[in-house]
Amino acid sequence: EQRLKPCVKRHGLLFTTMLSALLGVGVGVLVREYGSLSRLDRYYFSFPGEILMQMLKMVVLPLVFSSIITGVAALQSEASGRIGLRAVLYYLSTTIMATILGVVLVVTIKPGEPSHSTNVDLAGTSGKVSTVDAMLDLIRNMFPDNLVQACFQQVNMTVKLYHLIISCLVSMKDYKLVASYSDSINVLGIIVFSILFGLSIAKTGKQGRLLLELFKALNEATMKIVQIMMFYMPVGILFLIASKIIEVEDWNIFRKLGLYMLTVLVGLVIHSMVVLPLLYVLVVRRNPYKFAWGMAHALLTALMISSSSATLPVTLHCAEHNNRIDKRITRFMLPIGATINMDGAALYEAVAAVFIAQINNYALDFGQITTICITATAASTGAAGVPNAGMVSMIIVLSAVGLPINDVTLLLIVDWVLDRCRTAVNILGDAFGAGIVEKLSQKELEMTAGIKFFFTEEPL
Ligand code: ASP
Repeated sequence: EQRLKPCVKRHGLLFTTMLSALLGVGVGVLVREYGSLSRLDRYYFSFPGEILMQMLKMVVLPLVFSSIITGVAALQSEASGRIGLRAVLYYLSTTIMATILGVVLVVTIKPGEPSHSTNVDLAGTSGKVSTVDAMLDLIRNMFPDNLVQACFQQVNMTVKLYHLIISCLVSMKDYKLVASYSDSINVLGIIVFSILFGLSIAKTGKQGRLLLELFKALNEATMKIVQIMMFYMPVGILFLIASKIIEVEDWNIFRKLGLYMLTVLVGLVIHSMVVLPLLYVLVVRRNPYKFAWGMAHALLTALMISSSSATLPVTLHCAEHNNRIDKRITRFMLPIGATINMDGAALYEAVAAVFIAQINNYALDFGQITTICITATAASTGAAGVPNAGMVSMIIVLSAVGLPINDVTLLLIVDWVLDRCRTAVNILGDAFGAGIVEKLSQKELEMTAGIKFFFTEEPL
């Protein structure tokens, strides 16, 4: 009992948030069974959760700008170049590993074979978009022509791709998703700009230092807001999960798509509990599960809100506070990771694409499976860190191997469950990446130790 007390005290907020998630499930089931909420009641009921999402999103923009600029400037160009390269190598290799794992599982379990017939009506849009188009879009988004506009909307999407995605979503009658997709900000463009800006500040001498101080202050102040917001989190999460449970229309579909969901979930568990921890142990030689526990608050948040971008404030907090990763690494890597490193999404896209092939009786050859692995990696990189983005960007994977894209409609119905699970894995991948790259970059961190004071004057 004596050991339990400090533990509860230290993790009080985390336990409260976990409890509120469970309570949310209970309340959701109860209201579903016994309450009869009108549409308007439901709208009011989801309000506290909506506010939590708004709050988290509110701090993302100042955080991404200020974190990357200070992170990059404090590392200086040579060090940040090498650290950046390691980060990209880690992101690429783990994402490809995730897609291979997904393909192996789906080919072995065969959730879409006729014997496990899903027998669900399909309705939707058909169309085609080339992988080249999608790749060009990704690069175009990296260099927004108007930075202010990039903060509002992902404007630079090929008209063809944009229309395809939107019409697909409209046919799914998921208008909330249409709105969130059209409104998602171009984080990738903001990241590239911030990296360039950070690098140039490092080269601007005394005046640059002034600017750096300014961004550092902005960063610290925003993180303080995050700490305050975390106290509201249990309330928001309770209502968020309860209203989701009340909202679900057809639970039957879960039986029909059970094996498919299980395949994705098994893949996510293996990747997050075996593959990533193994990598961490090999490089860092510390307990990976303790590290993962340090990220628990962020993982729980991701599980509840299905958005890497909106979880970013909590991810930064956990990585710096609990796992004590060097702030120059976290602030450089985590905003980038939240946007481009999505192991969970890549694994999901690979499984889902092969699943769609199986239900359509479409035999895939080795070349097509390789194409699926590569395009799933690219599509997950291009997907924004917002709810359901992985499912939407899967259109690229399906197009690449000539599979019918209207079948994503079928997957959307259960995506609210899988989305949250893969988002948590996306976040864990980012966190392990920061830990691993920190270990590999000891030399560079020493090299720029003189600038460390930027982050160590006062604890957050
Ligand atoms: N929701 C996921 C995320 O934000 C992306 C996805 O849909 O896979 O990380």
